[in-house]
Amino acid sequence: MSRRRQIYEGKAKILYEGPEPGTLVQYFKDDATAFNAQKKGVITGKGVLNNRISEYLMMRLEEIGVPTHFVRRLNMREQLVREVEMIPIEVVVRNVAAGNFAERFGVQEGQVLPRSIVEYYYKNDQLGDPMVSEEHITAFGWATTQDIDDIMALALRINDFLSGLFLGVGLRFVDFKVEFGRLWSDEDMRIILADEISPDCCRLWDLKTNEKLDKDRFRRDLGNVEEAYREVARRLGILPEGGPQDLKGPKTMQ
Ligand code: ADP
Ligand code: UDP
Repeated sequence: MSRRRQIYEGKAKILYEGPEPGTLVQYFKDDATAFNAQKKGVITGKGVLNNRISEYLMMRLEEIGVPTHFVRRLNMREQLVREVEMIPIEVVVRNVAAGNFAERFGVQEGQVLPRSIVEYYYKNDQLGDPMVSEEHITAFGWATTQDIDDIMALALRINDFLSGLFLGVGLRFVDFKVEFGRLWSDEDMRIILADEISPDCCRLWDLKTNEKLDKDRFRRDLGNVEEAYREVARRLGILPEGGPQDLKGPKTMQ
């Protein structure tokens, strides 16, 4: 069987050459890593759920005018995306103190922040993704001041929209990480949302119990990791309970 050309294999996904120029196929693996890949494991079924969850969230974001790389889902584990020139910055937005932020600033995990805080990290596994400022980003030429303005505006819009969307299904959108890329057409360049949005790169807590429904279950050995990802998909209404036809949309909480 002829196999597509593999472009890249990362920790959670594989990129293949797409069917048309300027496209890629993103394959979602079950592999999980944490603490800069020092902890490794497999979460059975994670790839299928993340493919579905990222598709759903990116489609909803497109509806409000946030440009994304998502084109269409191809199968259970693969989606077609627009190839972009990745900006090597992990953009983190935080609404509630958690994880390394809580540690760094000595704030109790769970404390609501006075306003949403945007942070940038240089995407480099060998260096352990160091936190950087706008100064570093422009000085090293990773992005211009205009790019950063666009990225900040998109990140905050994504945060506002998804905070509301998750709230509607009984989930607190604690924090998340996104990546952006440059899409060129003729002489024009647009910054668009790339990579994925899934429980691998978000913190999602149950609104009533604060139960963690994200990758912290893997990082902190809390168990029931796949079940947590499945619960997020179920609440979003994208996990067919009675077969593929049974897609009802989000189950709004009262
Ligand atoms: P990592 O590289 O951190 O191990 P993944 O396993 O998720 O992460 O690999 C996916 C890779 O694909 C990431 O490096 C990401 O920056 C890159 N990527 C995501 N979307 C696109 C895109 N539309 N075009 C090009 N590269 C992309
Ligand atoms: N995050 C991510 N990839 C990373 C680092 C962080 O997706 O390499 C996400 C993480 O899931 C969380 C948010 O970014 O939703 C903030 O993570 P934090 O900086 O608190 O890091 P951690 O505590 O996970 O080390």
